[in-house]
Amino acid sequence: MLKNLSKQIRDCYQQAEDCARKATAQTDPRLRQDYLNLEQRWLLLARSCDFTQRLTDFSNEVKRWKADELPIPYTCPGCGAKYQVVTVDAPADTQDDRVACRWCGSRFPPSEGATFLRYLPRSPEIRHKRGRESG
Ligand SMILES: [Zn+2]
Repeated sequence: MLKNLSKQIRDCYQQAEDCARKATAQTDPRLRQDYLNLEQRWLLLARSCDFTQRLTDFSNEVKRWKADELPIPYTCPGCGAKYQVVTVDAPADTQDDRVACRWCGSRFPPSEGATFLRYLPRSPEIRHKRGRESG
């Protein structure tokens, strides 16, 4: 199933490319816009497939990790910030039920089954900025 998804993603990108090529070949601005719209749709579809695949990959990694009890490194898909994922049985506070990258705001999967996930930033910048800037 995963292989099919990768192929689907590739196909979507190929279709998008094809539409873009056709768009540039059009002299009629309306037709050109149609192809450009189509291109956008293919790109959107490709991205959503890509996201689904990443979630699936990540989900498998969490399962492996739970068996091994090892920390999982996680890289933000949006900005590449490094995180370390820890799991908690139940959230102590519900204030951060929306899990997102603190730098770029990309959404992360908040839980894996009954296990809630916490993302600890691993960027080296953090260490230097530890001192309080203002009270
Ligand atoms: Zn990010």
